[in-house]
Amino acid sequence: MKLREFGEFGLIDRIAGRVSRKSGVRTGIGDDAAVVELSSGCITLVTSDMLVEGVHFDLALCDPHTLGRKSLAVNLSDIAAMGGRPRHFLLSFALPESLSVEFFDGFVKGLLDLADEFDVALVGGDTCASRDGLVISVTVMGEQLPGRIINRHGAQPGDLIFVTGNLGDSALGLRLLRNGERMGPVVMKHLDPSPRVREGLELAEAGIPTAMIDVSDGLLADLGHILDLSGVGARVDLAKVPLSDSFIERQAAFEGDPFLLPLAGGEDYELLFTAPSIKMEAAGVLLGRLGTRLSVIGEVTAGGGMQVVAVDGSDYRPVARGYNHFSCVN
Ligand code: ADP
Ligand code: MG
Repeated sequence: MKLREFGEFGLIDRIAGRVSRKSGVRTGIGDDAAVVELSSGCITLVTSDMLVEGVHFDLALCDPHTLGRKSLAVNLSDIAAMGGRPRHFLLSFALPESLSVEFFDGFVKGLLDLADEFDVALVGGDTCASRDGLVISVTVMGEQLPGRIINRHGAQPGDLIFVTGNLGDSALGLRLLRNGERMGPVVMKHLDPSPRVREGLELAEAGIPTAMIDVSDGLLADLGHILDLSGVGARVDLAKVPLSDSFIERQAAFEGDPFLLPLAGGEDYELLFTAPSIKMEAAGVLLGRLGTRLSVIGEVTAGGGMQVVAVDGSDYRPVARGYNHFSCVN
């Protein structure tokens, strides 16, 4: 069956019927606006990300369930990068009328499964028809005490630069998908990234990061945002950039610079943060307890832009810094 047979309100009912009750929601789906509560003393963090068929995803390469998960995950990652706790979200989409109801249901199930994992409530959205491709927009609202929020602009000279997890898997996974692979850890890191919500929240609550961002456009591009906004420079050691065993094993099949994807591939959804060296041990203990890898990849400098040191100690010249809509660098 195709979506055109359900109509707008039939589809909204299909979503509303699957939403589980969550705390803090006074009025959810079904009224003109949602009414939600914040925890005592907290302020709101709001973020929105759009996924456009043909730009962010290819329906031939993804299944609806993981696409639903990823649509929420990329937004949760932005709340995590501010040290916030995600609470509520809106789902808006433009749907081709020819889309199957199985696809729609799979998408909604994936999205709501991830929402349950992170205890965030779907409280509204907008549903309309699309004449040309699927467009998904998710807006997440999170909360935090004002003094605990971590911005991009707080990096200080002498701070160490930390990154969670591994870099480059997602971009390599996309290449493997385009080559016909559908499974494996690298491919799944691209299709179903895990937002570092607990990591971001606990780091912020422990007062560790001076600046933080999630790596969505590529390490160098996103570190560049921290440096620009903080008015500082950095030295990054390529030898310390964390790579997964699967990445090392699989990337050998591709020619060219092996560091291109870890430095500029994007969609890693790991957390990149700066913190003074005295916090290094605390950060390691905290991430260790969560079972998440943590690496120190360099140091913040007073100026001098971004210097990348190659494994042999020479100056490394990146061929690309990251993904940028409208400029097409990779
Ligand atoms: P309005 O005409 O006031 O914009 P709608 O008819 O668009 O209201 O939506 C009716 C209700 O359904 C609202 O509460 C809205 O937030 C919710 N809603 C619409 N689309 C979605 C969706 N895709 N996901 C969740 N809630 C939705
Ligand atoms: Mg509406």
